[in-house]
Amino acid sequence: MIQVEHLTKCYGDFMAVHDLSFEIEEGHVYGFLGPNGAGKSTTMNIMTGCLSATSGRVLMDGHDIFEEPKEAKRLLGYLPEQPPLYLNESPEEYLTFVGRAKGLRGQELREQVAEVMTQTGIAPVRNRRISDLSKGYRQRVGIAQALLGNPKVIILDEPTVGLDPIQIIEIRDLIRELGRSHTVIFSSHILSEVQAICDRILIIARGQLIAFDRPENLERQLLGQNEITLTTRAGQDEVLDILFPLALGEEVSFQEKEDGLTQVHLKTPDPDPYAMGEQLFWAFADNGVALLEMSLKKASLEEVFLELTEDKEKPEESQEPEDGQDLDDGEEQEVDEV
Ligand code: ADP
Ligand code: MG
Repeated sequence: MIQVEHLTKCYGDFMAVHDLSFEIEEGHVYGFLGPNGAGKSTTMNIMTGCLSATSGRVLMDGHDIFEEPKEAKRLLGYLPEQPPLYLNESPEEYLTFVGRAKGLRGQELREQVAEVMTQTGIAPVRNRRISDLSKGYRQRVGIAQALLGNPKVIILDEPTVGLDPIQIIEIRDLIRELGRSHTVIFSSHILSEVQAICDRILIIARGQLIAFDRPENLERQLLGQNEITLTTRAGQDEVLDILFPLALGEEVSFQEKEDGLTQVHLKTPDPDPYAMGEQLFWAFADNGVALLEMSLKKASLEEVFLELTEDKEKPEESQEPEDGQDLDDGEEQEVDEV
């Protein structure tokens, strides 16, 4: 439904988005996950036609967002990071204004405004001034305006930022609810949030797409490294003799304990670590060696996310600091020592 093809955006000579390509299919909730500065807002602004691309294109149901903006934008509702709310107006006045701008008139306009207010739970505050509403309610007004005009796709840029924990839960519930009737794309720098709401995750870092999959597949494929820890009275050599015929080909390390016990750590990329646990159990049993303990540490998506998105260029930079930086560091150290 949406094709993003080789999207690149440069601000001056800084490349914020670099050759980004992906496809959005109808009926899913997509999480655009990445640390601050990853290029999420830039990408969303381009996808919604609010910002020009340096190169690449975006197609909405086949319509190029820049060449056929009218047709393409009709399919889209967008809540930008900083929604342009008119603080002196009431939600109803504001939504009526936005609905008109989207081409709605008369009864259809009234009906849709009423409908999106109900959908987002702002009907009770419809006549209050937006400036008097809590951040959570303002965010709902922002989502309500995105829903006007019945777009197929709703794009929300960091919709939970700056909200208190209860408001966050409410907005997440609302996004889930919207996902039943719309294709939703929302961005977040919080992994658990994306995991909790989405059925498709795009991980973006340094302006590039580094992963795109279902949450469960991401966990399986990317994580790779589950770790099984065994405790036994057998020594290292004996354990290796038991493990050798299994041809697990895994990374093994040992820890000799003071009480004569050996701890064995096995890392496995096997998506089913329990199968390996079972194999180990029987191998030790067949050799008449008791397994005193066996534990499994599943690598978390959080660890993978951090690893994938961490700025690997930084250490290199700090090895070759500019002259100015060098001087600054030296001065700071001197001050510390005094
Ligand atoms: P995110 O939404 O993932 O936090 P952004 O898309 O806002 O990331 O920003 C990506 C990168 O582009 C950041 O390094 C940011 O500083 C830079 N950037 C964003 N907007 C501009 C701009 N108007 N001019 C120059 N640099 C910008
Ligand atoms: Mg952003």
